[in-house]
Amino acid sequence: MPFDYDDQNIFAKILRGEIPNDTVLETEHSLAFRDIQPQAPVHVLVIPKGPYVSYDHFAQEATEAELVDYVRAIGEVCRMEGVEEDGFRLISNAGRNGVQEVPHLHVHILAGRPLGRMLA
Ligand code: IMP
Repeated sequence: MPFDYDDQNIFAKILRGEIPNDTVLETEHSLAFRDIQPQAPVHVLVIPKGPYVSYDHFAQEATEAELVDYVRAIGEVCRMEGVEEDGFRLISNAGRNGVQEVPHLHVHILAGRPLGRMLA
């Protein structure tokens, strides 16, 4: 599957500073910011700064430094938001069936309330 990246997507615009965001954490290769339509008391999106559409794209083409930075950034946001004790959920919607609205890889961190059982 080819990985065509649309540089007009909203997260690309956030990364270029063209639209504002509520930043939680910025690292060398990653950015975490609050979701504009939060679904839980804590709802943070974590994105790699590189132009990756999906997890598979990222895993295949990112450098090890980018991969490590991203995984650590997700963990650090969980720690900063204080969600480790009561628990949280990570979600990454991908493609059409995953109902991915923004075609730039992102992980949702949801926490701060009981999230219910969710497998689909
Ligand atoms: P997806 O369905 O996993 O692609 O989710 C995209 C998410 O991006 C949604 O939860 C939106 O609320 C969120 N979103 C869209 N535009 C913005 C923005 O400008 N700032 C922060 N979050 C956004």
